[in-house]
Amino acid sequence: MPDTLGIYISIPFCRAKCSYCNFASGVFGGERMSAYVDRLTAEIRETHQRTDFCMVLPRIVDSVYFGGGTPSLLSSEQMQQIVRALQEVFQVDPRAEVALECAPGQLQDDLLRSLPDLGFNRVSLGVQSFLDREAAAVGRLHTRAATLLEIARLRGAGINDINVDLIAGLPHQTEASWRESLDVAISTGVPHLSVYMLDVDEDSRLGREMLAGGTRYGVGLVPREERIAAMYNEACERFTREGIAQYEISNFARVGHQSRHNLKYWTRQPYLGFGLDAHSFLFVPDGTAVRFGNTDNLDRYMAGPAEEVRTAISATAAAEEAWFLGLRLATGVSLVELEKKIGPAAMRAFWPIVAECEQERLLERTATHVRLTNHGRLFANDVFERFLGVVREEDLSHEFMEQGALV
Ligand code: SF4
Repeated sequence: MPDTLGIYISIPFCRAKCSYCNFASGVFGGERMSAYVDRLTAEIRETHQRTDFCMVLPRIVDSVYFGGGTPSLLSSEQMQQIVRALQEVFQVDPRAEVALECAPGQLQDDLLRSLPDLGFNRVSLGVQSFLDREAAAVGRLHTRAATLLEIARLRGAGINDINVDLIAGLPHQTEASWRESLDVAISTGVPHLSVYMLDVDEDSRLGREMLAGGTRYGVGLVPREERIAAMYNEACERFTREGIAQYEISNFARVGHQSRHNLKYWTRQPYLGFGLDAHSFLFVPDGTAVRFGNTDNLDRYMAGPAEEVRTAISATAAAEEAWFLGLRLATGVSLVELEKKIGPAAMRAFWPIVAECEQERLLERTATHVRLTNHGRLFANDVFERFLGVVREEDLSHEFMEQGALV
């Protein structure tokens, strides 16, 4: 059973709400933020009561990720308060990856200066576009100049492991402006890049405008799906040519700079989330896995103790997860390793799906793995759905049924 743990800390506060965002985050005053940090640190200190069903909580924390929201809005004292609570409860490996999400221009000097002492060694910048007009159209408050300055400030403070997030498909974006964003992102020399294709959620402002037919957020200026797909493909090709290898559908890194924390999600490693709408994945002593999450209602979260919906992962669900999480990775699913775990009959049950996806050029087989094709990455969710409900319990090996989740 894995003996290291990832920790996710949710800080759901933003300076302004982006038009495409449907996360449980919002704009709140300082008082609400300090009360939240108090509630969050109390929740961290309640860890053992909260996870007593688990009994095999890994001892050593090797990744901590502060996401949100915009966690860089916290003061250095508030950050210290959270880090102290984590250190009281967990054994944080001194070589742990400790990452902070940050909106360019929203990282105060005192927090920046204290980042290395607090253990931070990685920052993820929500840039989305290096074109000022595109960033402004979705409610981002930064400019290209502010972003470049932020990268320089971070490097000046000793943080070189920097990620830049980009979105393909923003209002006003064109092939030329997308190329410009890619050029600037590459020229910054950051070792990690993430590219997401805009998917307008009905619960975001942009989504509501799409349904109601307004013009305020520029939904009419969102490029068509085929153009967004072409932009994504271009990013994949450009980054690969630049030695920034794709290792997951949306993630690209220079050698040695992959996100250890995010890899835990795709390789079914245990992690524990704290804060609003934070999710966890742990193993229990019989080898099965459990997923649970906190409420996404801030008032309910503040009223604590943390409210959770716990779901035990069945052996068939664990086998399905092994497929669709493995397929997210550029290396794909190792056939020998998976067969060793789930057994030959279960592998046979999945073969018709693999063959069907191969025929449709969505999946391809190498000597050892099955992986998404470039075309398949554009329809990944459709591919993943096909792996659901295919395998039956009686197909799975005896060992897997006993120790189902440990794939
Ligand atoms: S900064 Fe991030 S979390 Fe906050 S509104 Fe924008 S996209 Fe959402």
